[in-house]
Amino acid sequence: MRIHTLAIALSIGLAATASAQSPAYEGPVIDMHVHATTADSNGPPGMPLCPGVGDFAWDGQGSWAQHLGMNVLGRKCENPLAGSPTDEALRDETIAAMRAHNVRCLLSGQKDRVADWMSAGEGLFWPSRSLNLAIFPDQTVEVLEQGFEDGEFVAIAEITNQYDGILVDDPRMEPFWAFAEANGIPVGVHIGKGTPGGSKIFPEYTVQAPLQLSPVLKAHPDLRIYVMHAGYPFAEDIKAMLWIYPQLMVDIAVLQFGTPRAEYHAFLSELVRAGFSDRIMFGADQMTWPGAIKLGIDAVNEADYLTYEQKKDILHDNAARFLRLDAEGNLPD
Ligand SMILES: [Zn+2]
Repeated sequence: MRIHTLAIALSIGLAATASAQSPAYEGPVIDMHVHATTADSNGPPGMPLCPGVGDFAWDGQGSWAQHLGMNVLGRKCENPLAGSPTDEALRDETIAAMRAHNVRCLLSGQKDRVADWMSAGEGLFWPSRSLNLAIFPDQTVEVLEQGFEDGEFVAIAEITNQYDGILVDDPRMEPFWAFAEANGIPVGVHIGKGTPGGSKIFPEYTVQAPLQLSPVLKAHPDLRIYVMHAGYPFAEDIKAMLWIYPQLMVDIAVLQFGTPRAEYHAFLSELVRAGFSDRIMFGADQMTWPGAIKLGIDAVNEADYLTYEQKKDILHDNAARFLRLDAEGNLPD
């Protein structure tokens, strides 16, 4: 009985909210955070994702990776996102999801895979080069210079050094920042949230907050840079940085499925409330679950604290400005 009463109260509350809500934005979307990866990059191919799971208690016995998988594989998950079964399916299902929702994206990854996805999804992708100094030590500045000259990429993202304990102000990154700044190349750096229980999978992972970027932005005031995952959960840090560095942008990738939905809205609304709705860009962080693209767009559209204009800014306009797209929506020559 009590539950019944609560359900009625909730439905009245929701109806009231819905009528006050701005319309959903349904125009073209720019996604700053999609990975061209393999179907087995998050567990066995076909491994589903459980959006918004916050309960990862573990007694330390057995394997964390297996425990994480158990959470996802139905023990607790009610609405899993399907994983693609093969590399080709992953590519083609991602392209289909992008076409269905009028999305173009900055496609992050290694050279050959990005090129393959680009030819399969003509007009949908801008190529971006991922960077990790620990995993790909042969990816030197000289190699990037050549690749940039050859038109292989237009941005450097995702920079995932944090997974291997190399922080943004590490001296080894200095020549890369200088190269990007000198050539006006946008860069996206992972700061904040990684894999749940990530220390058990990436033993060198080191927590860093957005303030770690201060020396980089001081040394490279013209760097076109965005903090991926908006530096979650360090809202105070990222607000301080956005305030002082007007060129700095963030994407809100992964948060829509990597945090409980109420937490996603608490964090996003905090940045918007602080006045930064012009600095936030959409990102699905699609890796092996093509449904993440629609889920991410829906998460922005369901926000009752965003005006229609703010939804449009986050889902499209802010990224268009950051990427300096022309009136036709193309990158400048
Ligand atoms: Zn990331």
